[in-house]
Parts: sequence; C-alpha cells; structure tokens
Amino acid sequence: MLAGAFPGGYYWRHQMRKNQMLLMLRWRSALVAVFIGLLGLVMSPQVDRHQVISAQSAPQHKTLSVTGVRQSGPYGTRVDITLDIPPNADSDAVAQDALARSGVQPVTATGAMPQVALPTLRWPQFYHNPHAVVSQYYNPVGDTVAGGATQALQSTEQEWTNVHTSTFALQYAGTTTLGAAFDGVNVVSWPTTWPFGSFALEVTIVTYQRDTGLILDADILINKNLQYFANPADLMPSSYDIRELLLHENGHVAGLGHSANPTAVMFPSFTAGIVGHGLADPDIDVISALYPPGSSTQLQPPHQLQAFNATYAGSIAFTGTTSLAYTASGSGPYLGQSRLQGTVSVSGAAACPGRGFRTEHDDTFTAASGNSLSVLVSDVSCETAPGSNVFHGVGTYTIIDGTGQFVDATGQGTTDDHADLSSGAFSMTFSATGP
Ligand SMILES: [Zn+2]
Repeated sequence: MLAGAFPGGYYWRHQMRKNQMLLMLRWRSALVAVFIGLLGLVMSPQVDRHQVISAQSAPQHKTLSVTGVRQSGPYGTRVDITLDIPPNADSDAVAQDALARSGVQPVTATGAMPQVALPTLRWPQFYHNPHAVVSQYYNPVGDTVAGGATQALQSTEQEWTNVHTSTFALQYAGTTTLGAAFDGVNVVSWPTTWPFGSFALEVTIVTYQRDTGLILDADILINKNLQYFANPADLMPSSYDIRELLLHENGHVAGLGHSANPTAVMFPSFTAGIVGHGLADPDIDVISALYPPGSSTQLQPPHQLQAFNATYAGSIAFTGTTSLAYTASGSGPYLGQSRLQGTVSVSGAAACPGRGFRTEHDDTFTAASGNSLSVLVSDVSCETAPGSNVFHGVGTYTIIDGTGQFVDATGQGTTDDHADLSSGAFSMTFSATGP
C-alpha cells in the first residue's frame, strides 16, 4: 500500500482506473454529459460555471483534485488544485481548464498524457533536527467561513504534526498580510483575484529544488467565492468542510501527493455537505516514510553545493574603523529566498588605482527552512572612482559549514560585491565554480 500511496505521479485519471466504483460514477456522468450535449448545450473550452450548474439535478457536489507541474531553471513548482465538481459537470473539461489556467503540465504515472518528472518532495529541516518545524502563516483577509477558518487551519496543522511515527511538524506562525509568492514565507490566504477558474476551491503551490526535491516554499490559496463551513451546524449540501480541505492541502504542503486509497485524506475526491474525517493509515504511512524518526543515510541530501549561485541586495554600515556589517536578501538555487548576514574586516591595503583594501567576510545565509550556510570570503575592494566612496570587491568564497540540509556542505566559487559607503547600499553575487 505504501508504494501505491507514495507521493508524486498519481494523476487523477489513474485513480479512477483503480477504483471500480468511481469508474461507474464517471461513466454515468459521461452519459449524462452526452445527453446534455444532444439537448444542444455546448460547453465552451473555457468552462462556464453557470452553464454547468444550470444543468444540475441533484445537490451533491464532490471534489476532484488534480496535479500539475511547471519548471523554471533550478526550481520546480507543483500545483495541486482541488476542484468543486457539481453534479453532471464534465469533470474532464473542468480539470483540463484548471490545469491550463495554472500554466502547468499534468502529472501522470501512465504516460498517456504529457509526463513531468516529479521528485519526492520533502522539507529539508527535518534531516538533522527532529524538533524542526515548518512555519505557516494565515492571511484572514477575505475569509468567508462563519466564525473564520483559523481554528480549522490550526487543527489540521496539529493533526499532521501529531503523527508520532513522523518528525514532520507544521506550526501556526500567526497572521500575515502576505499572499502566495515564492518568498520563503508559507502563507494560507484568500486572494482577491482568483486566476484558477470558478471551479477551483483550493490550490496548493509548492516550490522545490528540481534536483533534490527539497521544498523551499508552500502556499495555500482558497477561493472565497465558494462555500465552506467550519462548524457542522453551518453545513449545507453544496458547502465543504474547510477543515477537511485544509487537512488535504496541508498534506500537499508536507510534500505528499495523492493516494489511491479512498479512505485517505489524500484521496483526490470527497463529497460536499458532510463533515470530513481525520488522517487515515495510508496518510500516516506516507508522512512517516517522508520524515522517519532517527537518521537514515539514504535520506541525506547532497552535501556538495555544486551550483550555489545567489545574488543579494541590502545595506552595509561601519561597526568599527576597519570593520563593517551588512544584511541583505536574495535568492539562489540551493537556498531559495534567503537572508544574508555578513561582517567584513579589513586585512590590509590592496593594489588598486585609488583606495583599496584586502578584506575577509564572514557570511551566513539563512534559508526559509531556518537552516543556515556559512561561507568565508576573501576579496580585494577598490574604490570605483576617487572620492566616490563606492567600493567594488572581487573575491572567492569557501563554504565552511551549515545546519539542516547544509550540514557538512562543501563548495567554493567567486564573489562580486558593491558597497556604497555613503548611502549604505550593498549587493553581492556568489557564483559557483563547481567541485
Ligand atoms: Zn490534492
């Protein structure tokens, strides 16, 4: 069962084939769709929600979850969309429309559709620290749930955290005004504009390193135009249990894909108008396999940061007559969005056309996971023009150490930095030279 429930690669078509009952349901809805077609109702390629709903004859809605992936340089983005499928709706058309709107390729295990390789996705901070957490913020603006969805969200965070055979922990980090972005801040929000089509209930966007599968950012977006309840007393036939939806989406946040087991929270379909259930054995099996207690060498990420390239911008100031400190933010393939803190000490004079110094930097990068990478930089800084007080430094860096996924990391490369000592502006680029 574990292999069948393992994350990645399970497009919903595949689930249908595996489940006889769902297959029958699908044939019935297909026949109804053909009948509606004969009546002259034409579906446009961009699915019109009102057209579909007007054809409904029974109040029972259900969800359908689909998965797509897009790739950009060293990053992959996994998009899981949970769709509201009204009775008689053409679920194929709804699914394809939602994936197209998200700009992703469908993930499939069979090769019948365009296939995108999806690595096993995991948060890196649990490799070396069984007490690590993934922080999740909540933006309540637009929350349409009676009484709010905060408690429901927190209960789902607790439920994934409480699996005692897994070290994974998801921690409520408070409210934020941020929304979904690849910024290293994991946010649950109700966006004002909704680009995923009117059938999409919730979307989880997970950004990861393509070559390691390590997760850098995970955001959940909820469609405020559809109906949810948090309190069973507010249940209505076409509304969804927000706790059940968030429990499913937070499974994606943890790195899980869909399960072929209908008892699982990660099964890609459940029914509106009922109170959902908690994590089932298949969910617990997968989270435990992703984040097993104790160390396992086969789960260690690569230590050699062969492609550590990153650019940071921020500010610099003197901390003494021959020392400075800077803070900056930026991003790179291995750290994602991250913070840089550095100190500079002048170690001597350098041969430059004007003023120039040899300097040593102590740099620490902190990734969204909370893990850090430390490097030492030696460079030569020359004033760009006499009296400009702007220094351009060129040097080399060596990785010294790190925590979490960066423990025992090694690597080296070149640096290029600019420091305007009048305005305090600072920027620095790290380029890898390989192993
Ligand atoms: Zn899903």
